[in-house]
Amino acid sequence: MNFADSKRLKNLLEKNGWTITYKMDEASVIFAIGCSVRKHAENKVFSFIDGCKNIKGKGRVVGLLGCTANIYNKSIFKNHPHVDIVCGNNYFNLLPEKIESAFKGEKIILTGEKEDPFISGTYCDNNISVDIPITKGCENFCSYCIVPYARGRLQSRYPDDIINEIKNLSDSGVKYVTLLGQNVNEYGNDLNIQYGFADLLKDISKIDGILRISFMTSHPRDTTDKVLNFMAENEKIMKYLHIPVQSGSNKILKMMNRKYTREEYMTLIKKARTLIPDISISSDIMVGFPGETEKDFLETYNLIEEICYDKLYIFKYSQRPFTKSADLPEPVSEDEKEKRHEMILTLQKKISGEISNRYINKHTKVLVEKLNKNGSLEGKNINNKTVDFNGGNDLIGKIVNVKIEKYCRGCYFGILQK
Ligand code: SAH
Ligand code: SF4
Repeated sequence: MNFADSKRLKNLLEKNGWTITYKMDEASVIFAIGCSVRKHAENKVFSFIDGCKNIKGKGRVVGLLGCTANIYNKSIFKNHPHVDIVCGNNYFNLLPEKIESAFKGEKIILTGEKEDPFISGTYCDNNISVDIPITKGCENFCSYCIVPYARGRLQSRYPDDIINEIKNLSDSGVKYVTLLGQNVNEYGNDLNIQYGFADLLKDISKIDGILRISFMTSHPRDTTDKVLNFMAENEKIMKYLHIPVQSGSNKILKMMNRKYTREEYMTLIKKARTLIPDISISSDIMVGFPGETEKDFLETYNLIEEICYDKLYIFKYSQRPFTKSADLPEPVSEDEKEKRHEMILTLQKKISGEISNRYINKHTKVLVEKLNKNGSLEGKNINNKTVDFNGGNDLIGKIVNVKIEKYCRGCYFGILQK
């Protein structure tokens, strides 16, 4: 989501006459877009911002943007006085005009919720694939999560707005869209229009030039048969589901306020695999939630062994301001979190290796997205597997047949088939 926001900001600034550089000493304005979901990410953005102190110099403007801005607001000016602009994700569109005021010495603060928070005008860096935010914020208040405070409550974008943007992108050559939301299945619930996520998927799939559609994140409680059935029947929808379980222990799931049980989750995964037999599935796992015992952890470990995910994103719990779990007793030690993190990482490496064997020597259809620096082509197959192979530039944007030869560190390597 942050990545999509930063691309949109880049587009907006370029439209307003700015040139983007990644060399700090060349820049007259330095923006850092912070994510506060985990403490680690937040530390990184503050240390970046502090690093700007030395090079700020005369006439340079420094801004801290993104959800970190919404959480820490004015206190950022107090604790990091060299910062000139504090701007939450909802106000990026005002930045071009406000930069001028910041140059004159004004401290700019733009935070909080907004009626129409979406910046249109996606920046598309490879011309083929694009991330499209369809909702902002979240209604779910999982007990560990800062998102509803950092990004506000659920706000869905109007269907016409999304569809028109995708039609325009398609006219300019885009072939693949990824629809983004904290819980895509809640899409439309706030709009009062009897139009939900499955309807949106159907309408987008009717746009001729769009060859593939994926989405994330699916919340296990809200993933409907309607969406799964449509995934099964429509060949443009990627056979890929990112459906975070977080924990395999019912006790912890309840404390997390996830509103599903381990058993309900398992049933959902079975249903998805029955309807879409070749589906690939990924998940987020959190280790070290307060009160997570060895037994709870082993239940998570054992769920992963049972499900065999294609990919996992594994996080160590960190306490976040405003959240309910911040007050819970029985913290898990950092050493123990590290140990549990490592155990799951090792397990997942083994599972991913085993899954990769299913693809070796098989043919797969790849939508070619870009030319890599080393001259090879890169794209994804319908299961969201990244595939690298040699071929001509003219194949970019086309779906081609590739025979997979090898798998290494999350990427498949293959040979183009004529
Ligand atoms: N909306 C998505 C998750 C968005 S945040 C969902 O509900 O699945 C992405 C991931 O960050 C979460 O799935 C969770 O695993 C992790 N995360 C969120 N808060 C965290 C915290 N306080 N500590 C560690 N990991 C956290
Ligand atoms: Fe956070 Fe839960 Fe919302 Fe995901 S569903 S963004 S974890 S509150």
